Amino acid sequence: MTMPLLKVERLRKSFGDHEVLSGIDLSVNEGDVTCIVGPSGSGKSTLLRCLNHLEKPTGGAIFLQGEPVGVRWRGDRLYEMSFNEMARQRQKMGMVFQGFHLFPHKTALQNITEAPIIVKGTPRHQAEAEGMALLEKVGMPDRAHYYPRQLSGGQQQRVAIARSLAMKPALLLFDEPTSALDPELVGEVLAAMRQLAEEGMTMLVVTHEMLFARDVADHLIFMEGGVIVEQGNPREIMTSPRHERTREFLARVL
Ligand code: ADP
Ligand code: MG
Repeated sequence: MTMPLLKVERLRKSFGDHEVLSGIDLSVNEGDVTCIVGPSGSGKSTLLRCLNHLEKPTGGAIFLQGEPVGVRWRGDRLYEMSFNEMARQRQKMGMVFQGFHLFPHKTALQNITEAPIIVKGTPRHQAEAEGMALLEKVGMPDRAHYYPRQLSGGQQQRVAIARSLAMKPALLLFDEPTSALDPELVGEVLAAMRQLAEEGMTMLVVTHEMLFARDVADHLIFMEGGVIVEQGNPREIMTSPRHERTREFLARVL
């Protein structure tokens, strides 16, 4: 057995006395695409945000490549990571959000090269060559010098994906990457994601796109009320869910 790339154990998160995650266990192997589905408010975004240090869990543990996330061992005691240690760990996880969060005053290419140049110290010419290759990969080599406002939502999201890839993450997290898009623009973003999946990128994708989940995911997780109700093979879950709550959810979205 090889070590999973990401392992989450009994993860809990509360806001005040509202428990949003009530003991999440999951693991993601290298090269896997895992889709997370579930009704609004079930804790999907909070789960991704805990993985990526945007929220601090109230219990449980997360391991990335075997390393605890957010804390570190010194001897036999756990300490919170320093900001620099967290930043280094966060670089291993790219995150793509529902809103594209591009820098509005930078071109597509500048959005992509910013972090490699500033954070990693990659020489500009190298970052630009890699950035152009990434724009090619997401099907936009001719839009390198466009500003976000000159791009459609689907194009902006593809730039956001290229920007995440520029840091060469071990894992890409997606939080409803197509939910803010006009319906006719969803397909081009899903196509870019599908291509990444085929190239072996490890991806954890919160989505409402059930056909994408069925066709692309290796593993499907259904969350509701802060717990994983059911997980397994996407086709099996979609054709014969074992839990009534999964069945009800699928009846609403399929
Ligand atoms: P989902 O992404 O599945 O729609 P979320 O993780 O966004 O669910 O939210 C789960 C629950 O946590 C919701 O009830 C939401 O209101 C609550 N929540 C999320 N973030 C915060 C926060 N920063 N403070 C208080 N409550 C929050
Ligand atoms: Mg959400």
